[in-house]
Amino acid sequence: MIKELICIVCPRGCHLEVDLDNNYAVKGNECKRGADYGFKELTNPTRVITSTIKISGGIHKRVPVKTDGAIPKDLNFKCMEVINKLEVTSPVKVGQIVVSNILDTGINVVISRDM
Ligand code: SF4
Repeated sequence: MIKELICIVCPRGCHLEVDLDNNYAVKGNECKRGADYGFKELTNPTRVITSTIKISGGIHKRVPVKTDGAIPKDLNFKCMEVINKLEVTSPVKVGQIVVSNILDTGINVVISRDM
């Protein structure tokens, strides 16, 4: 069985064909990153989450945050539920952890802009 995907690693957007019956062999990729993406997307899909949270005392009302690594894709919505409840007080620094080990993934949510 062939599964078709669009590679999202770079803006080129190669059309990938992944052969599920042949050890997830990938065709259509212009580079190795696409082969890695096609394999991972069908065996263990993950995403880095980026968002913003409320901040008080800052120059803006919200400050950007992100996960410091990729989490399993099926945890995206639960992760956003946690992030949407967060609020910090200025000053904050890039890399400052606001949630450690979110959803027991071993990944932290960190501030991604000084404010
Ligand atoms: S396969 Fe390589 S060139 Fe094509 S979209 Fe993915 S990263 Fe970009």
